[in-house]
Amino acid sequence: MTAPLLSVVVPCYNEEEGLPELHRRLSAACAPYGSAGYEILLVNDGSRDGTWACIQALHQKDTHVLGISLSRNFGHGMALTAGLDACRGERVLIIDADLQDPPELLAKMMARMDAGADVVYGKRESRAGESWFKRASARFFYRLLSKFSDVLIPEDTGDFRLINARVVQALRAMPESARYTRGMVAWVGFRQEPLLYARDARFAGRTHYTLEKMLKLALDGITGFSNRPLRLAFYLGFLMLMGSGILLLYIIYSYITGSSVRGWASLAFIIVGSQAAQWFFLGLIGEYIGRIYQESKRRPNYLVSERVG
Ligand code: UDP
Ligand code: MG
Repeated sequence: MTAPLLSVVVPCYNEEEGLPELHRRLSAACAPYGSAGYEILLVNDGSRDGTWACIQALHQKDTHVLGISLSRNFGHGMALTAGLDACRGERVLIIDADLQDPPELLAKMMARMDAGADVVYGKRESRAGESWFKRASARFFYRLLSKFSDVLIPEDTGDFRLINARVVQALRAMPESARYTRGMVAWVGFRQEPLLYARDARFAGRTHYTLEKMLKLALDGITGFSNRPLRLAFYLGFLMLMGSGILLLYIIYSYITGSSVRGWASLAFIIVGSQAAQWFFLGLIGEYIGRIYQESKRRPNYLVSERVG
């Protein structure tokens, strides 16, 4: 069996109500690439409803549908990773099962990739059917992440994207267990282009991203792509050291002029000085931990974009 041109990877968690409609719309979007041209890989992430049975039924009806079922709920990032490891296409469309991201955009994404892009990512211009809190927290998070992160992670961008084989290969080479896929794709580099779109409301069911999962995602994103939070202690310690220097001058001045209460000067200096030293050394320790962390990720140090000969 030859590898198809296109793989569609869909992580699914309790999505039984929406899957038939997803299959219908995805099949329609993929049809132009020919019967042997695509596969739809549905990853069941330990669902508690009939999602897996539904995937099996879809496979019976349509051999384009392939399924993987994880042993338990590993979370969206891991389900995606399992799908990316197993898919065979030269291009891979990553899409959620809930039809918030329209499969019909595939044609436009494919056209961009034909023109040379390695990654075409969907950038949300608007989000329908999501709570005020979800929109505000998402907005805040994407801005915060771009301040902290060392790689440029595009704002208002989820995992909805079309990537090609060399990006998939790079993702497979990253062994880290905190999988913030959208950041990892950004880290890979090559030619990445946005495609603006309006995000729809969920077709069925409700969001599985609880506040807890959103917080975990946010922390994975920030800590996975930057040491800067660790560096905060260092900066704070440095500032306090400067501050205590100035305070020392004032203390000496008030001691000489005899304008202070006895004992105040030495006490104030001990408190401020030792605090500053603590923060400073905490920051220094943070620097070393950061380095250990970077090394322990065992990411490749670089990726080659092109070769001749
Ligand atoms: N998902 C998953 N495992 C989880 C949570 C979610 O595979 O533990 C899938 C879910 O089925 C959907 C996608 O990840 O296809 C995005 O989840 P959801 O729509 O609930 O998130 P939101 O769009 O609200 O951020
Ligand atoms: Mg969703």
